[in-house]
Amino acid sequence: MSGPAAAPHDASQTANEHTEEHHMTSTELPDPATWFGGRPRIMFVHAHPDDETITTGGTLAALAAAGQEPLLVTLTRGERGEVVDGPFHHLQGTDALAPHRQGELAAALFMLGIERHVFLGVEPARADGAPPVIYEDSGMVWGPDGRAAAAPDASPDALTRAPAVEALNDLLSAAHGAGAQGIVSYDDGGGYGHPDHVFAHRIARAVAAALGLPFWEIVAEDDPALLAATGLGASEEAVSADAAGAIPIEVHGIEHWLDRKTAALRSHATQLTVDGDDIVHVGGQRQPISRREAFRLRPLATDAAEQAE
Ligand SMILES: [Zn+2]
Repeated sequence: MSGPAAAPHDASQTANEHTEEHHMTSTELPDPATWFGGRPRIMFVHAHPDDETITTGGTLAALAAAGQEPLLVTLTRGERGEVVDGPFHHLQGTDALAPHRQGELAAALFMLGIERHVFLGVEPARADGAPPVIYEDSGMVWGPDGRAAAAPDASPDALTRAPAVEALNDLLSAAHGAGAQGIVSYDDGGGYGHPDHVFAHRIARAVAAALGLPFWEIVAEDDPALLAATGLGASEEAVSADAAGAIPIEVHGIEHWLDRKTAALRSHATQLTVDGDDIVHVGGQRQPISRREAFRLRPLATDAAEQAE
């Protein structure tokens, strides 16, 4: 992928993007340095490998390219997920799946330019003095309401069976040690109900409250507030009120970083395939690759966010 100018590619990429920004207006190219209140060290808390890319990959790539310092904490290694038909299908249900998915995640983060990544339970995302622990994927089943529900056979080592205080302390250590200035995770419903996502919301939001940091929840593509912002999504300035008219959302147009997001998605080959502009999930469900990513600052943290500035 290297071009004729043989400078180290990360450095030249950054330099080129900075040059472009100077020649383009902010309406053409969003400035990620202004996202999340201009705070450079945002900690993203995701449940499984691939979640970081599907829901926040463009934002992560943009922040990294802009010289910000996003940090990713992944809670599990996706041990319970199904495997796409193909060369790695035999890994499903085996102990070899977790290390394989760790490798896929590493490749995805390379594509996104993310260098700061830890798994929960491992230093520095482990409370002082405790030996490392692996929090496993809790698994899920589809409920009658079309939302994910807890799997009846979650392993004893599953994230949702671990003492919540232990996982909470580990995440607190990660945030404190990294000097996080804000936290991003799912909404209270975990986006679509997966118990690991709901758990991620709880501990991420609790850590934000404990440290007095702003907490942003990821806004789903079909959220009424985001739909209302349609047409504004190309600009980082796009903000819309939610259905109650009270809580603004921040919409990131990530078109400029879409290639990186797509390359990162392709790295998660045991979980999904990329078909044109769509993600095809292991169960066959199609989902367009989002060209915008939206975040809602939760009100309990608003005062802390303002006071910290
Ligand atoms: Zn997930």
